[in-house]
Amino acid sequence: MVPAIIKLTSHDPSSTPKAATSRSVESSIVNRGDSFRRRRSRSGSLAPSSPAQATPEPQERRPVACHRVAMVGAPGVGKTALISQFQTSECINAYDRQRDVDSSEQKVSILLNGEESELYFVNCTSTKEEIDRFEPPDAFVVIYSVVDKASFQKAEQELARLIDCDMLRSRPALLVANKIDLARSRAVSTQDGKCLACTYKAKFIEVSVGINHNVDELLVGILNQIRLKKQQYSAEGGRESSPAHWYKSRGVVRASMKARQMLTWIFGKEDSKFKNCENLHVL
Ligand code: GDP
Ligand code: MG
Repeated sequence: MVPAIIKLTSHDPSSTPKAATSRSVESSIVNRGDSFRRRRSRSGSLAPSSPAQATPEPQERRPVACHRVAMVGAPGVGKTALISQFQTSECINAYDRQRDVDSSEQKVSILLNGEESELYFVNCTSTKEEIDRFEPPDAFVVIYSVVDKASFQKAEQELARLIDCDMLRSRPALLVANKIDLARSRAVSTQDGKCLACTYKAKFIEVSVGINHNVDELLVGILNQIRLKKQQYSAEGGRESSPAHWYKSRGVVRASMKARQMLTWIFGKEDSKFKNCENLHVL
């Protein structure tokens, strides 16, 4: 039914686009229903080392959309590791990797559904400086670590600030729970993560950069959400999709989410609202 995805990672050692040698790296096969191709342009040690075959560059070049994505979260949640993993198809070994300098912006080029886009990832501890910019980013990815409760609380503060500053009208927010490989030390449940995401109308995904779990899904999801949100915003002529008062009644929304969460526990059947926040292919 749905074709398997083959990721193509093109590594450009000389940083001149024309000299790029495309390599194809077959990786885990996922039924995602879209075509997804990643390109790397940063030179460095993350190039795929497996045997690779050359593939021709696409003939026709449409203008490439560029999007800035702020990666927000407490120190140590895995922002730097996640951005590094976005740039390669191979597992980067987040555990004993040499720490990258958090250089200002890291670019990842992606071909998704026949359309190429460039995502520029910016690593930041707080959303504040990003909100205050003349041009805020096109998406906010708020990350916490499931083994660090304080990082979860920090994530909530950041989401609250995004809502209060009216940042999420035309841009998506994605709440990312990292380090789920550390199952025995888990301090934040999946349900609590979903509940937080639903409260702030963010998307939710659990990942592990350490074992490269759900990282590609997140990367595709970020781009999907940016495209969908932009489409929606322009279709509505830049108006608000939901009534403005929604944002004011956060306490009520939270209470209703908690009640739904309770019903999920009692009846063992997941609420559709919770399920929707995990679908990164719809708004
Ligand atoms: P940052 O401060 O948010 O940029 O976090 P880093 O990317 O520097 O990661 C902090 C630490 O967490 C590093 O030692 C990483 O190797 C580790 N780390 C990142 N992701 C994971 C993960 O998914 N699982 C585990 N076990 N460790 C991780
Ligand atoms: Mg870092």
